[in-house]
Amino acid sequence: MTSSSPEAASGPAVELPENADTEPVSWDVVVIGAGPAGASAALAAARAGRRVLVLERAELPRYKTCGGGIIGPSKGALPPGFEPPVADLVREVEFTLRGRRRRVRSSRTTLIGLVDRARFDEALTRAAVDAGAVLREGVAVSRIAEHDGEVTLTLADGDTVRARAVVGADGSAGRTAAYVGVTFEQVDLGLEAEVPVPAEVAEHWRGRILLDWGPIPGSYGWVFPKGDSLTVGVICARGEGEATRAYLRDFIGRLGLAGFRPAIESGHLTRCRTESAPLSRGRVLVAGDAAGLLEPWTREGISYALRSGRMAGERAAAVAGVGTDAEVEKAGADYHAEIDAVLGREMRAGRILLGVFERHPAMLHRAVTTLPQGWRVFRKVVQGRTTFADLLERPAARRVLELTRH
Ligand SMILES: Cc1cc2nc3c(=O)[nH]c(=O)nc-3n(C[C@H](O)[C@H](O)[C@H](O)COP(=O)(O)OP(=O)(O)OC[C@H]3O[C@@H](n4cnc5c(N)ncnc54)[C@H](O)[C@@H]3O)c2cc1C
Repeated sequence: MTSSSPEAASGPAVELPENADTEPVSWDVVVIGAGPAGASAALAAARAGRRVLVLERAELPRYKTCGGGIIGPSKGALPPGFEPPVADLVREVEFTLRGRRRRVRSSRTTLIGLVDRARFDEALTRAAVDAGAVLREGVAVSRIAEHDGEVTLTLADGDTVRARAVVGADGSAGRTAAYVGVTFEQVDLGLEAEVPVPAEVAEHWRGRILLDWGPIPGSYGWVFPKGDSLTVGVICARGEGEATRAYLRDFIGRLGLAGFRPAIESGHLTRCRTESAPLSRGRVLVAGDAAGLLEPWTREGISYALRSGRMAGERAAAVAGVGTDAEVEKAGADYHAEIDAVLGREMRAGRILLGVFERHPAMLHRAVTTLPQGWRVFRKVVQGRTTFADLLERPAARRVLELTRH
């Protein structure tokens, strides 16, 4: 992907070098990482009129270990007019409990969209570049420091970049989380295989996903079709490495896919933040996986990345224009409050549901696959017509929770 050149300065605090048609001495907003969080942040800050630079370690399109499931809240958080490059649209879900008690439920309307993350992230970043952000690929940020109202980022090649505000959207293995002091209370290991399959196998899976409630408490597996290949994955609490690998192996074997050689096999950690952990430090804000913003039960993170990225981009645009420490601190506090009101609330509900799922996977399986109400709730959540947080506020849900406490 090629980058555009910076547009004319629009923010108040930009210091321009003599040769103003190259790069500014100090950017208004620098975004670290071009995943969904970074692309959304860059787009929001560019639309707010700021000079924005995105620094991405990889060359786009880059592979990302991810099912690529786009649920309603992810779709709703996409930039207006952005059409995601969809590989499949899901209307049917096959549920199994540790490979048994197979049940298929279907819907007249689309439940989930499936995307190839490399193409999806590249297209989102393109939208930010089209809005005026500048992209530099193949550059890793290795150090962050802040002095005198400015953040200095040191790159792996020793070069430095300066900014009035920074959004750290460098994912769960990035550096900004440690700089800001984000702590994590839940860490999971996701393993995936991208399995190219013959046409008849691809046809069987077209428009259909599989969710398997797994053998280790809190674990589950999935098959997400992407045209002529299947993304097969499992996720489980970290610390169960061998059991997680065995789960994926058995899952693939059970599905009759062991004979097809995976094109890619990969693993990635997902991390959910400690509720009280910071989301900013001075002029540096974190978003998406870097902030530990992820649904604790399903480990769905694209909608969290898109939504927090947009909020961080808007706040960073504001931070770029303010001068005093008190103003910067207030912008950080406002960002924290905004995240907490929406995503923090949803994560609190997700933690409760993960606990129920860990203790009673069979009950959950029965509820979703045999009770019309259970299937209706599943559809409404994945289509973004309600949230777990809204559901848990209902008296009936609270009574069920009370019964499943042990
Ligand atoms: C196995 C698995 C399956 C998943 N399936 C789904 C799913 O189906 N649906 C869903 O909604 N969520 C899913 N998730 C979660 C989802 O993938 C993440 O929540 C989402 O990718 C977070 O986006 P992000 O932009 O915060 O980070 P990322 O997508 O990780 O992007 C971070 C970017 O930062 C770059 N970077 C890192 N370090 C640096 C550096 N030092 N300098 C410059 N750039 C840097 C990286 O190269 C990367 O491009 C899954 C996760 C796993 C592990």
